[in-house]
Amino acid sequence: MSGAITLDRVSRNFGVVEVIRDISLDIAEGELAVFVGPSGCGKSTLLRLISGLDQPSVGRILIDGVDVTARSAAERGLAMVFQSYALYPHMTVRQNLAFGLENARLPKAEIAARITEAARMLELTPLLDRRPGQLSGGQRQRVAIGRAIVREPVAFLLDEPLSNLDAELRGAMRAELAALHRRLGRTMIYVTHDQIEAMTLADRIVVLRGGKVEQSAAPLELFNRPANRFVAGFIGAPA
Ligand code: ADP
Ligand code: MG
Repeated sequence: MSGAITLDRVSRNFGVVEVIRDISLDIAEGELAVFVGPSGCGKSTLLRLISGLDQPSVGRILIDGVDVTARSAAERGLAMVFQSYALYPHMTVRQNLAFGLENARLPKAEIAARITEAARMLELTPLLDRRPGQLSGGQRQRVAIGRAIVREPVAFLLDEPLSNLDAELRGAMRAELAALHRRLGRTMIYVTHDQIEAMTLADRIVVLRGGKVEQSAAPLELFNRPANRFVAGFIGAPA
């Protein structure tokens, strides 16, 4: 297996604004790391840097020890899932799942097999011939996750994937995602501004503020030994 991700002194400036400031992190193969922090702290920017959708101003990104900083998103082999689903409305669920794979020139039989397996895992089998407009929010988000799974990425990058769903559905989907992570055994980086989501999902929580890492630790350690008042307040632990 693979999917170890290293950030080596990564910064990202937009003009004079430093959005990501000198972040170094090691995410182990198979780990579920949650990036948490208030709106605007740089979570999405950091995920885009890891995925290859954006480039750091300074620093390096390594996957399995290989420097991929200069590589495109397609070359890095990671899959992103967004809050907005980003499904193609004119395509069926099946076509949405197949889309990236056809571009990658995979054999038709292999594409069909991967879609069948992902649909089974996510309970999308009866919905394969529907279009996104005929699906509920939760079903659409499952399709978005399915589209990541069929690519068989070395790691999954999820940017607030559940924040468009109502509270009840969010709880159910969170449990599904945790089960999926155990089953796939793949590295996942999960971005959220929701502390409860972070505490329940994470092997490790990375608390961000103002483009910097305040603390990176297992949920229980973070709760019992917050590095500072900000972490304590944000996680809801006694300071
Ligand atoms: P989060 O996902 O934690 O809410 P973002 O990573 O989206 O935060 O944004 C962090 C900061 O960077 C914000 O202040 C945002 O306005 C700024 N920012 C993000 N992308 C750009 C960009 N392309 N150009 C200028 N500023 C940006
Ligand atoms: Mg964001």
